[in-house]
This record gives sequence, structure tokens and C-alpha cells, in this order.
Amino acid sequence: MANTALRYAILSDIHGNLEGLDVVLKDTREQKCTHYVCLGDIVGYGPNPKECLDTIRRLECPVIMGNHDEYCTSEIELTGFNPMAAEAIRWTRTQLSAEEKAWLRDLKYVRHVESFTIVHATLDLPEKWAYVFDRLAAQASFNYQHTPVCFNGHTHVPVAFVRGPTGLQGGLYSKIKIEVGRKYFINVGSVGQPRDRNPKSSYAVFDLISNVIELRRVDYDIGVTQKKIRAAGLPESLAERLAHGR
Ligand code: ZN
Repeated sequence: MANTALRYAILSDIHGNLEGLDVVLKDTREQKCTHYVCLGDIVGYGPNPKECLDTIRRLECPVIMGNHDEYCTSEIELTGFNPMAAEAIRWTRTQLSAEEKAWLRDLKYVRHVESFTIVHATLDLPEKWAYVFDRLAAQASFNYQHTPVCFNGHTHVPVAFVRGPTGLQGGLYSKIKIEVGRKYFINVGSVGQPRDRNPKSSYAVFDLISNVIELRRVDYDIGVTQKKIRAAGLPESLAERLAHGR
């Protein structure tokens, strides 16, 4: 039927930012999304890991593991980490219950949903948390991509890579129409800590009827999140960076 909607909201890298998550979910309702997926890093950096985890769990949607979900629920040594990230991970470990940690630890690295794939970092070595910033790294992941579309996060920078008959291209995007004979590896950006110098929360809508992917950017009250970061005693730079989107 013409009125059967199948619109997925693709959320990633929430990082304990409840204000960002709330406005994104409000936007998904206005966008008439019917389904959700979450690409990981629900926790880490931000001041509301429990609340964000609870919100995502209530969506009852497919969720995959991010590197911060893994670090925050294990006792692995944090030597060699960025000191600010390590401090936030240690703090988050004290906030989550044993049940919450067990739930996060159980997440898979890769999942197939409908006709697409979801992964936090890359498909070639999903548990190694490599960063896809260039075509070479995108190519490595494409070799393991068996669906036309795969969504990822991890870099907090929304970019799209397309592999077609004439080669592989990458770049910024706002709207993409999926075409037969091509593969798409699409980063949806970050809900809770954007790093593309645009502080607005980022996520994507994938309409499986029209085969169009649209990037969404939404304003949230950054000042509220910054106050919470300071009140929790988390590093000041984690508050500051939110205002600059980096
Ligand atoms: Zn992340």
C-alpha cells in the first residue's frame, strides 16, 4: 500500500548527552520515523550515561557495540588513551550498574537490519575500532560489505563513501538516493559530540520505500549539558568542545 511507511532513524555516538538525544528523538517523531537503530557509543564522555542507555533500551531497537561501550563496561587498562577520554571512561564505570554493563557487553559488533548493515567503526575488523577518514579505509570495509548500504559512526563526522562502476568517492552529504549497482558506506555523525565543527546533533533518516537517506542536524541546549559535565567533575574540555563541534 502507498501509505506503508518504513523510515529508519539511524542514531550513533550519543555519549551520555541526554539533551542531544532528546531533541533528536523529538525530530525523529516529526520526521515520522517508524523504526530505530543505534550504532553504539551510547556512553562515555557525557554526564548522563544511565539515562541515555535507558532511553535507547526503551526503543527496543537493534543496537551494536561501540568502543566506549566496550571500555566503560570492562576493566581494561586505559594506558595510551587520551587522558580526557580515560578520565570520562573511569567516571562512567562508576555510574553504570552491573546489569547495565552486562547488557552493553552483550552487544554484537555487526548486525543486519532489513536490507542494510550496521557497524560502529569498520566491517573489515569491527572489533579493532579503526577510523574511516579516507577512501583507502573505506575500500577495506567495502570488501566485507554484502548489502548495498552500511551505516557507521565512530569518527563523529558525517560523510558518505560510494563505490560504483567508475570507482570510489567520498564526501559530505545531505541527501542520497540509493542507486542499483552501487554500494554505500555512510557515517551518520554523532548525536552527543559532533566533531565536524557543527555543534548540532547529527543523525540520519533512511526511507526504505523511497530509498533515500537524509542527514538531519538539530539544535539542542548545549549549555545544560555543559553544566552537567562540570557538575559531574568531568574534564572541562569535554564541556567546551560541545560548543565548537569538535
Ligand atoms: Zn564515539
